[in-house]
Amino acid sequence: MLTHFHGDHYFDIPFYLLNKSRSENKDVNIFCAKEGKSKINKIGNLAFPNSFKEVCNSLNLKYNFNDNFVVDNYKVKRLLLEHGKMKRAFGYIFSKDDICVGFTGDTSLCENVENLSRKCNYLFCDCMFVNGNSRHQGIDNLEYLSKKYPKCIFVVTHLEDETRQKLEKMKIKNVIVPDDGQIIVVK
Ligand SMILES: [Zn+2]
Ligand SMILES: [Zn+2]
Repeated sequence: MLTHFHGDHYFDIPFYLLNKSRSENKDVNIFCAKEGKSKINKIGNLAFPNSFKEVCNSLNLKYNFNDNFVVDNYKVKRLLLEHGKMKRAFGYIFSKDDICVGFTGDTSLCENVENLSRKCNYLFCDCMFVNGNSRHQGIDNLEYLSKKYPKCIFVVTHLEDETRQKLEKMKIKNVIVPDDGQIIVVK
């Protein structure tokens, strides 16, 4: 499930697909904006010019460009966010049994971030900078959101080192500053 097409969010796909082609389960479902297929083919052919097509042909590879879909009994809804000049940057909301978990991907503070915060029990969200701008959220935005939506637990992502240090010191009640690889149990 891809949020948008900046390199830090999709340049590893050729290696993922290569790995899948060598594994037993060949099913791959890619959820993304409609320009995703050509973007992924481009980067795949750059990475493996002589074999990327073969890799794709060996897989049961499907693209899905819809706003609403179901994966493993999770209802998933895709929302448009605002990320600088990137036309299509999506967030996702997953719901099952009255629990909602959202992911913003990269975003500035916008109406759909507020909608996610209102709806979600947990929101994994961009908090790259100390001060938010038109491309990424910042600590100032998280202070506002965590106060306005006290029922939502915000798990911050995409952090610069300075942001992490400052946020860890602030110890905001409903903001989790996770370590890489940390598993968050949703309850
Ligand atoms: Zn981005
Ligand atoms: Zn990014």
